[in-house]
Amino acid sequence: MRSKTKMVHGGITGDEQTGAVSVPIYQVSTYKQDGVGNFRGYEYSRTGNPTRHALETVIASLENGTHGFAFGSGMAAITTVMMLLKSGDHVVMTDDVYGGSFRLMTKVLERFDLQNTFVDTSNPEKVEEVIQENTKALYIETPTNPLLKITDLRKMTEIAKKHNLLLIVDNTFATPYWQQPLDLGADIVLHSATKYIGGHSDVVSGLVAVKSDELAEKIHFLQNSVGAVLGPQDSWLLMRGIKTLALRMEAIEMNTRKLVSYLVEHDKVKSVFYPGLESHSGYEIAKGQSTGFGGMISFDVGSGELAEEVLKKVNYFTLAESLGAVESLISLPAKMTHASIPADRRRELGITEGLIRVSVGIEDVQDLIEDLEQALCD
Ligand SMILES: *Cc1c(COP(=O)(O)O)cnc(C)c1O
Repeated sequence: MRSKTKMVHGGITGDEQTGAVSVPIYQVSTYKQDGVGNFRGYEYSRTGNPTRHALETVIASLENGTHGFAFGSGMAAITTVMMLLKSGDHVVMTDDVYGGSFRLMTKVLERFDLQNTFVDTSNPEKVEEVIQENTKALYIETPTNPLLKITDLRKMTEIAKKHNLLLIVDNTFATPYWQQPLDLGADIVLHSATKYIGGHSDVVSGLVAVKSDELAEKIHFLQNSVGAVLGPQDSWLLMRGIKTLALRMEAIEMNTRKLVSYLVEHDKVKSVFYPGLESHSGYEIAKGQSTGFGGMISFDVGSGELAEEVLKKVNYFTLAESLGAVESLISLPAKMTHASIPADRRRELGITEGLIRVSVGIEDVQDLIEDLEQALCD
């Protein structure tokens, strides 16, 4: 089955009893046992729920994995995956990972002596340099937020194999439609499904997929032990979102390319960050490991004042954090998503005051261009 077909027919479709075409929402916590310990596949909904199970089967199939797991948020998924490690272990992570992942590692898991080093993983040599004897995992995000930096996943696989590390990839920005890290050698792929996979700004959720039975068993044990599972209603909403993921990603990418072409020509725009631009530092690698470049753009208008002005004037770009929805979203990383990062560290990362981030939606692109045009003019 090809990707687009999997989105519609993957996992468990419909209901055998009634013929209902969509998976029923099993709003249930416990299940009748035919005798003590003799249950029909489900015993308690933290351990397993048929609606969630259908979603878990779809994500496994989309990522070319064997097992999937659904969680109450992207952070719940990441936290549960980190529970594979133990006190005294060390994790190497992409330096501009999602802020919540940075916070989890530095403010929560450090208290349990789970150690970390953040490094520019777009440079494989730097990754090798920071690996220690107790390093157990390599955690990659590609593309990253907000500068869309690209890490070479095949190189990371080589390094992980050489040092016997678990390779974990946050695939939120690319989605399984454009990028399948398990095929490139990753052990675990995870998502904030709140973003593109849900796609409609109406669910907070996280997904994990793996291709090894041994890892699957461990993660299921942790999912059940930690208990941060996704409810049946939200599981159903995600499956509904997934049915149009391919269509949305293609429409979003087409709009994004046109917006990028418009922005690079604009004289008030100093620079544009998009991995689909040949001038982008990660262009070649992105082309080699993903089939699309996604719908996130950042561009620098030179000053914080002008950036705020633009954000105030736009009509079709909703000023909000988050990304990956049908509606276009706009934000100012230095004052919003990345405000908690110290100013000099922000500058080091290249997150300037005038940097605007856009998550492109599926509106008519001409409206989006005209909207930016009026917002950028004096
Ligand atoms: C949003 C996001 C997360 C966290 O997901 P939540 O669903 O908000 O908990 C993790 N990684 C990336 C790349 C994200 O964009």
